[in-house]
Amino acid sequence: MANPVVAIVGRPNVGKSTVFNRIAGERISIVEDTPGVTRDRIYAHSEWLAQKFSLIDTGGIDIGDEPFLTQITEQAQIAIDEADVIVFLVSVKEGVTDADEKVAKILYRSDKPVILAVNKVDNPESRQDIFDFYSLGFGEPFPVSGSHGLGVGDLLDEITKKFPENVPDEDDSRIKFSLIGRPNVGKSSLVNAILGENRVIVSPIEGTTRDAIDTAFDTDEGDMFSMIDTAGIRKRGKVYENTEKYSVLRAMRAIDRSDVVLVVLNAEEGIREQDKRVAGYAHEAGRGIIIVVNKWDTLEKDNHSLSDFEANIRQEFAYLSYAPIIFVSAITQQRLTKIPELIKRVNENHSRRITSSVLNDVIMDAVAHNPTPTDNGKRLRIYYSTQVAIQPPTFVVFVNDTDLMHFSYERFLENQIRTSFDFEGTPIHVIERRRK
Ligand code: GDP
Ligand code: GDP
Repeated sequence: MANPVVAIVGRPNVGKSTVFNRIAGERISIVEDTPGVTRDRIYAHSEWLAQKFSLIDTGGIDIGDEPFLTQITEQAQIAIDEADVIVFLVSVKEGVTDADEKVAKILYRSDKPVILAVNKVDNPESRQDIFDFYSLGFGEPFPVSGSHGLGVGDLLDEITKKFPENVPDEDDSRIKFSLIGRPNVGKSSLVNAILGENRVIVSPIEGTTRDAIDTAFDTDEGDMFSMIDTAGIRKRGKVYENTEKYSVLRAMRAIDRSDVVLVVLNAEEGIREQDKRVAGYAHEAGRGIIIVVNKWDTLEKDNHSLSDFEANIRQEFAYLSYAPIIFVSAITQQRLTKIPELIKRVNENHSRRITSSVLNDVIMDAVAHNPTPTDNGKRLRIYYSTQVAIQPPTFVVFVNDTDLMHFSYERFLENQIRTSFDFEGTPIHVIERRRK
């Protein structure tokens, strides 16, 4: 089942990002140790009582230089368009303001459930002031204090109660992929070219997740794909669609729903910061990844062009060392036929399962060749390993003491696993646990 989406709306300064961070908790960690990847605080995953959901801070989506009221109107509109449940946040300190009423008017037009939360209720005395907010017309207000973490549990109980009974299931018979990248790298051109090559378009699948429209197609070889809609490909004609943050949000949502993500770069312009940010999120989300260098026709090429470009990518995207790189042109169609087969291969690797006996042979061999580290005379002992998950493949290694597992040794084990099995295109996770 697709995860429900919760959006927080409200005028500036009521505490949206404070409450957002409180709910998202430790889960925001967009490739922290990756240089050049800034944290994006508008979208996060969270979980309450085993119910997973995605969270959007609409306040983080700035709508260019538009006047204040246009900004909050657009942000409320994003919440209505994207969310299953809307949290309308106000502040007890200022009471009901004109701007709150403006937001309320827009939310009336939505048939999505709206929960009114009054923030900055830091002490019992201010609780009695929350009743003024009944006038906004959203029923009982929930008192919270984002900075002190008060009332957040009750608010989450109410949010999860309002989730739709059944968010539509994804169609798992098809390999789901998306193309992400900066504006102008050639995503739409690639989409059209890929669909042009694979003429057996089955159908646009409507309503898979809200108003996303996926395109299903089958190749001549009989492989079944579903291409997920991303920003800039199908516009719905809303003002906010042209803002950068919104396109980042759409890309993140598309990544969440994908098995394999095609990170599209522009050969003509080289690698930019924004490329790294979105690629970092795809990596963090544990998706299969292929780096697609488009507009390869625009370069004057010599014998080194390809290897130079590749070396540059390997350096700039060091954390994506597992991702295959393909150089294409949407215009001349160079190498486009390779894309579906590459997606298929990466998808297989992303779902690969290794039996415990084979895995343990590999790990024991690795240990025999490169002895485990010691600390103060105490040696790391590896007892047993097993694969606990796919998509991405995740391995648990049971040891005598997790503190003895150095980062470099974990890397070594990961590399041994990669050389023994085909995990091209997928991140893999190695987790150590102490054997009880
Ligand atoms: P946003 O513009 O709605 O995202 O608001 P912020 O989260 O940036 O918060 C605005 C200001 O309100 C900041 O100075 C916060 O520290 C403060 N703030 C947020 N939550 C609380 C709260 O629960 N109690 C108090 N007293 N201040 C808060
Ligand atoms: P998007 O914003 O990422 O969807 O990019 P578009 O598909 O709209 O392409 C942006 C521009 O780049 C358009 O003018 C395309 O014609 C051009 N373009 C796209 N792919 C290629 C390519 O492979 N080679 C060349 N020379 N131009 C391309």
